[in-house]
Amino acid sequence: MKKESFSFRVGQFQCMAVSDGIHVYTDPVSLLFPGAPAEHLEKVLRRHNLQPDEWTEWKGTYTCLLVSTGKNLVLVDTGLGGRLDPGTGRLLHNLQAEGVSPGDIDTVILTHAHPDHIGGNIVEGGRPAFPSARFVMWKKEWDFWTSDRAALELAEAGFDEHLREILLQFARENLPPIKGQLDLIEQETEIVPGIRAVLTAGHTPGHMMPVISSGDEQLLYISDAVVHPIHMEQPQWYMATDISPEQTVATRHQILDKAASDKALVHAFHFPFPGLGYVVRKEGTWQWQPFMHLVTE
Ligand SMILES: [Zn+2]
Repeated sequence: MKKESFSFRVGQFQCMAVSDGIHVYTDPVSLLFPGAPAEHLEKVLRRHNLQPDEWTEWKGTYTCLLVSTGKNLVLVDTGLGGRLDPGTGRLLHNLQAEGVSPGDIDTVILTHAHPDHIGGNIVEGGRPAFPSARFVMWKKEWDFWTSDRAALELAEAGFDEHLREILLQFARENLPPIKGQLDLIEQETEIVPGIRAVLTAGHTPGHMMPVISSGDEQLLYISDAVVHPIHMEQPQWYMATDISPEQTVATRHQILDKAASDKALVHAFHFPFPGLGYVVRKEGTWQWQPFMHLVTE
């Protein structure tokens, strides 16, 4: 069987990349690189062994992160859940397979409120999936998705009606049930000792990057600031689901520069499982270096 969890350490912290499954996206170019100039895009895709005309499906991996600091048990993002796609919603099963019950988790960090990051907040019947956890989210993000202006702003950002409806429906279903467990933050802060919240807005208004530090080691959970490895080489190629393309591009430069300078381990939610690797500088931008050699199955 394909491996769906992967354990590693960051300093003294025991970490685990845990899969929620894979969602197949059709028309990947329109989703991932809608503004990219055709000729340049073709060249770049070919370099990545992708034939532009034949690339009709992109397997979007969803990999959440569990961090045991010794004091806290923290989950970052809850995946899509299984209600939209039977290929996803594997998170709880995969946690249980590693001996982790939902009630063991004391902190859930939601990097942003897109369906694939909040869809596992609830289980069948709408009950909270992690009943003992404090849910931490950027206040701007919560306010955006729970306000009336979200629909209007998504329309203004050019999101089509179908996409708007899916995004808003997931927010309506998955945010209100956690209201009693919610801890909204408004500035960079330490969520639990060793995990710091950094605002990385652009993809969404309150997109957050958790920075996990122990000893002299560091893990950056970049979430959807970068969705495909090509975005590291071509950071100016925003996505169709980036609410503010301009801000996304600026944020990416900051994150990638930090990742490369700090030689930090990086967790990228949508990169091939387990989504772990390093960012290195190359020809004025950056390149992804997965550490696949550590994953043997
Ligand atoms: Zn995502």
